[in-house]
Amino acid sequence: MQRYYFDHNATTPVSPEVLEVLVPALLEVYGNASSIHHYGQLAKQRLEIARRQTAALIHCDPNEIVFTSGGTESDNLAVLGAARERPGHLITAAIEHPAVLSSCAQLEREGIEVIYVAVGPDGVVDPVDIRRALQPNTSLISVMHANNEVGTIQPVKEIARIAHEAGVLMHVDGVQAAGRIAVNVQDLDADLYSVSGHKLGAPKGIGALYVRKGTKLRPVLFGGRHERDRRAGTENVPGAVALGQASEWTRANLSGETARLAELRDRLEQGIMNRVPSAGVNGARGPRIPNTTNIYFDGIEGEAIVISLDLKGFAVSSGSACSSGAVEPSHVLLAMGLPRDRAKSSLRFSLGRENTREQVDALIGAVAESVAHLRKLSPTYAHA
Ligand code: PLP
Repeated sequence: MQRYYFDHNATTPVSPEVLEVLVPALLEVYGNASSIHHYGQLAKQRLEIARRQTAALIHCDPNEIVFTSGGTESDNLAVLGAARERPGHLITAAIEHPAVLSSCAQLEREGIEVIYVAVGPDGVVDPVDIRRALQPNTSLISVMHANNEVGTIQPVKEIARIAHEAGVLMHVDGVQAAGRIAVNVQDLDADLYSVSGHKLGAPKGIGALYVRKGTKLRPVLFGGRHERDRRAGTENVPGAVALGQASEWTRANLSGETARLAELRDRLEQGIMNRVPSAGVNGARGPRIPNTTNIYFDGIEGEAIVISLDLKGFAVSSGSACSSGAVEPSHVLLAMGLPRDRAKSSLRFSLGRENTREQVDALIGAVAESVAHLRKLSPTYAHA
């Protein structure tokens, strides 16, 4: 069976040009970057080239890049590291990824107060709400650049301005933005910015945190003095080489890919809206990254459509999370004000480099078929 992948916000395949540098790096650059012999020096040299390439993707100085194991660690280091260094009050958004929300929950257990700012039906945080949530002892604001489930782009530049006027640090979870839209951390005026390799064509297990020069962070890992004392642990040099290469390819191809993916995404939305009644796009009114759409299909469970599409060869995702044996609707869709049933009926389609018009057209047909079939079986769908 021909299979098509439409789940690039979950992870992306390793891209061909990354593979080209990754395999030799695994074979040849196995030295420990802290060793003083030839092998160590080669590893160190490759690590620093990768640091420059990664820094160029988000427009910062290479010394401001800390390599991590991925987006989750970058978010943990930013949120826990900043809040523990400057204990105080913290502001974040209700639609953040669990990597940020769970870090905040940990800080609450440590006695730090956290305010979770709501979003509107458009899935966008209102900077006015952030300003209102400020307290005299607020020390950190953490708001994501692009939401992983609906793709909405948050006004992080405006929020950073509010943060800095109040002398507060600004962390941006950029995991779904870096590689999808142009990112310039200086223009955004972020203090901390998280990146994940496997969302942009590098393998799992590598990520980066931008730490603006002079920003103090308490480490979350303890051991050696790696990454300028900010992240202990022998560096994953092949991973960093892969992230560097992925960053370079992405930067060179960003504008073409952005336009191509936006066109495919619009085609997918239009095609589904034309063929499927009682369906709609969640968060369509906010600005969005080009590769993501989130669509509800009234009367059926998202999981059932995911399984039905998988049997037809299409990989998509429902935003729902499985907790204690029950399928819970997405916290992002609930925060946007969707009723539980509609949130549970929603699917995320996230496009990537290999997707073509033909694949999108085939997906539209498969969605229309699956939804029509499942609705016939649905006791809750009001049949016309
Ligand atoms: N932040 C966001 C917005 C994400 O979408 C993800 C992954 O889906 C993460 C953080 C965690 O990144 P990783 O999978 O690299 O740990």
